[in-house]
Amino acid sequence: MLIETDLEGLSVLVVGPPGLTTACVRRYERAGAVVSVAARPRDVTRERCEGARLGVLVGPAATWTEARAALVGCCPVVTEPAPDAPRGRVVLVGAGPGGLELMTLAGIRALADADVVLTDRLAEVGDVAALAPGAEVVDVGKRPGHHAVPQGDIERLLVDRALTGLTVVRLKGGDPYVFGRGGEEVAAAVEAGLPVTVVPGVSSAVGVPGSAGIPVTHRGVSHAFTVVSGHVPLEPPQARALAGLGGTVVILMGMHNLVPLTTALLGAGMPGDTPAAVVERGFTPDQRSIVGTLATLSDAAARAGAASPAVVVVGEVVRQSAVWARRQGAVPADAARSAELADLADLVGVAGLALDVVA
Ligand code: SAH
Repeated sequence: MLIETDLEGLSVLVVGPPGLTTACVRRYERAGAVVSVAARPRDVTRERCEGARLGVLVGPAATWTEARAALVGCCPVVTEPAPDAPRGRVVLVGAGPGGLELMTLAGIRALADADVVLTDRLAEVGDVAALAPGAEVVDVGKRPGHHAVPQGDIERLLVDRALTGLTVVRLKGGDPYVFGRGGEEVAAAVEAGLPVTVVPGVSSAVGVPGSAGIPVTHRGVSHAFTVVSGHVPLEPPQARALAGLGGTVVILMGMHNLVPLTTALLGAGMPGDTPAAVVERGFTPDQRSIVGTLATLSDAAARAGAASPAVVVVGEVVRQSAVWARRQGAVPADAARSAELADLADLVGVAGLALDVVA
């Protein structure tokens, strides 16, 4: 049912058993009403009836004779059927790599429609409560090293809330399927018989290098990019495979393993002078790029005090960035190219350019 009337400030008493009134309450709240709920007949007190300007009896509450009579004596009363079946569902939403503007319209709509939002540390879209009016917002954000809410508990929360008939949005940084454990959460919801929708997000794996002027592919330079987790060091066969591809290597969650990761790639035969960069805190005012070569990057990053969250990029594409051209002693391929790169710095609006560290 659509409520098109402006009910701004109107106090509405919704009467009905727990679980059946949720959708009704949200509709009236969205129309601007000040809603209170009476879940049992005895909660429909004289005082509450007198405070109400409209009564809504949901499902079986229409047969709560005394409650109904008390309410009818005080204000107009409407009845509405109980929702047929719980309309619970799960929507996994990618929040993008930072800031509301990098979330999709589908994601913003999903939040507006949410009853519950489970949000992440990296899902930095601003005021989630304002984007999901009336929804319960639970921050299950994880911090490196210690998980604020264990993954199993997140999945239980997600499923339990949705099974009561609620629309649960799971908001995750970047894209939900890129090192986001989205697959596990979808599996848990599907196993519980819940419908699931996934709204993709801009992944930091592509967006963060891009914001520093580093394209992950570039015609004639790199026709492949591989995104790897640096959470654990690379095994020699993996490092050899990456080195053998000749494309761009993008490492997420790699800051605490930067030395073993770069050492493994060098050991696998990747040339020490391969351009490499760390792009830290993408899309924040503190964004910073640290550029060097595969041989110098870990040292430069340590000296600069670079820390997570950061994306590591290894490959010839790093040469395309303006920050590479500003390296000390950098020899531009040609003068025209270096002028082009200087323009590019303005065009891409590299955040925190003044902070960039070049090695
Ligand atoms: N699902 C996310 C990735 C989660 S893993 C996505 O698609 O982007 C978390 C890692 O992502 C961080 O350790 C870091 O490597 C990277 N990351 C996410 N947001 C970032 C940002 N704004 N700046 C730099 N790195 C970021």
